[in-house]
Amino acid sequence: MPHRRDIFKHAEKLGFGELHFKIDHETQLFAIIAIHNLKRGPALGGCRWRHYDNTGDAIYDALRLARGMTFKSAISHLPHGGGKAVIIRPAKVRNKERYFEAYAKFINELGGIYITAADSGTTVEEMDLISKYTKFVTSTSKIGNPAIYTAHGVLRGIEAAVKFKLGKDSLKGLHITIQGVGQVGYLLAKSCHELGATLTVSDVNDESTLRCAQEFGAEIVSPKTIHTVKADVFAPCALGAILNHQTISKIQSPIIVGSANNQLAANSDGHLLHRLGILYAPDYVANAGGVIQASAKYYGDSEEKLLKKVDGIYDTLTTIFERSSKTHKSTSDIADELAMEILENE
Ligand code: NAD
Repeated sequence: MPHRRDIFKHAEKLGFGELHFKIDHETQLFAIIAIHNLKRGPALGGCRWRHYDNTGDAIYDALRLARGMTFKSAISHLPHGGGKAVIIRPAKVRNKERYFEAYAKFINELGGIYITAADSGTTVEEMDLISKYTKFVTSTSKIGNPAIYTAHGVLRGIEAAVKFKLGKDSLKGLHITIQGVGQVGYLLAKSCHELGATLTVSDVNDESTLRCAQEFGAEIVSPKTIHTVKADVFAPCALGAILNHQTISKIQSPIIVGSANNQLAANSDGHLLHRLGILYAPDYVANAGGVIQASAKYYGDSEEKLLKKVDGIYDTLTTIFERSSKTHKSTSDIADELAMEILENE
């Protein structure tokens, strides 16, 4: 992490943008909204609400995540820029309603350049509260479960990768391993099972794996070994940084497509996967179903239009795979290049 005194220099290097801060004395709200880019429309990005050891870490988190949202929105052809909110979670909130009202007012003060959504630490409950005080909010209980669309997008990503790498139009008879069968992983397991794949799953929660064994005949393995299981597709749907120098050498699947955010521990891990001939679907492309839903619901798009956009993940990934193969660059580098092109030209 760069030295904290260099926040502006760091932000400038990342292509920012704006950084907004709010201190609300009455409620003890300490919030940061980072706006990376507004070229495609108002910035859409989640609101992270967690403890930070210091303000510098919170600011860097906001900067990193906001920039990621610019790429994610661009590559998903959404009419949004990239932004993110980080609220430094206090040990105790005296009045939650007033606290999130203060956050909503902060959003209003920005005049609509930032639309907030749920992220780690916030749920539909907080978004519902916020929606009482601002219209610049999505991911409320009214819009439905984003995991449905995220899982569908990952499924389309798996189908694209299977077609590209294995030349197959169907998942029938393929073996798919899923790390983490929570909201997204479970729905993905269900679809893969219905399409005729056999499954191996792992989760730290035994009830979640047991449900997959009972409903889909999935084999259960330990969370420590799931990536070492020989399969056609490995789907990381739990943790970030799962693809690192220790795990990659043990991966026994020619394809990796999952929903987890920040799957690569470092950019160099994308290069390593490419050198080993493992086809990796860049996470922010494959897992964009949730943000596509948030955007579509915000603008009142039809279900048909929303599903068409999520289905588009198949074509976007195919383009990335083809370009990676032609240029001998990693799929993760190609995804960033493509997002930049869309940002500049579309
Ligand atoms: P979730 O919390 O419902 O599921 C995650 C599951 O992973 C849980 O069942 C948890 O027990 C399990 N898990 C935790 N540590 C594990 C480990 N070491 N090994 C195996 N399993 C482990 O979350 P989710 O909504 O299903 O999201 C899954 C991933 O996808 C997260 O990284 C999330 O950030 C990302 N994501 C989710 C969405 C969405 O719409 N929900 C959208 C984009 C990205």
